[in-house]
Amino acid sequence: MKILIVEDEKELSKSLEESLTKELFVVETAANFITASEKIDIYEYDCILLDIGLPDGSGLEILRQLKKAGKSENVIIISAKDSLDDKLMGLNLGADDYLTKPFHIAELNARIKAVLRRKKLKGKQRLEYGNLSLDIEERRVYVNQDLLSLNRKEFDILNYFLFNKNRLVTKTALAEHVWGDNIDQADNFDFIYYQIKNLRKKLREANTNVKINAVYGIGYRITEE
Ligand code: CA
Repeated sequence: MKILIVEDEKELSKSLEESLTKELFVVETAANFITASEKIDIYEYDCILLDIGLPDGSGLEILRQLKKAGKSENVIIISAKDSLDDKLMGLNLGADDYLTKPFHIAELNARIKAVLRRKKLKGKQRLEYGNLSLDIEERRVYVNQDLLSLNRKEFDILNYFLFNKNRLVTKTALAEHVWGDNIDQADNFDFIYYQIKNLRKKLREANTNVKINAVYGIGYRITEE
């Protein structure tokens, strides 16, 4: 699960990054309007934490652009401005939630999980596919009722596949989602190949009816047999 923090206060951004990384999110940051705009244009995120007052523009404008581009990222506004006007404008523009600074990281965490559950999981706690079941918050995978042991990357890969089931997932999209934005500078994607190989082996040995198919040269597609 990948999060973008758009925040110009360095210390706040850093402490959010550290806390969310501990929660095992893949975390990216942008400290101004222009960087945030570019990142949102190029990359995909599950959730964007958006400050309104940025040195070179308004977070509300970023939200406007996001909606205009038809992007489906969840947006939680984090702002010191606690005026009702800002809050209403943010929510009217399509923000999923609004937190007034200062806030507790525990509250932010709960809100992130709530928007992800609401939008990505349609209110459910688990993602189901074939005889697989993923508990996103507990980061556990079950085959029928048996727990399947996966490492962190294997879990993130499987999670991303299940969010994109029956769709072609490119290697680049997968790498950016599981390893982070800067992975597009990598020389090759061999590291994905090895993780997928291990994941496939584990799925096979656990008798799942879910299969990861390679689409030669492009990426992967998960299917139910
Ligand atoms: Ca600010």
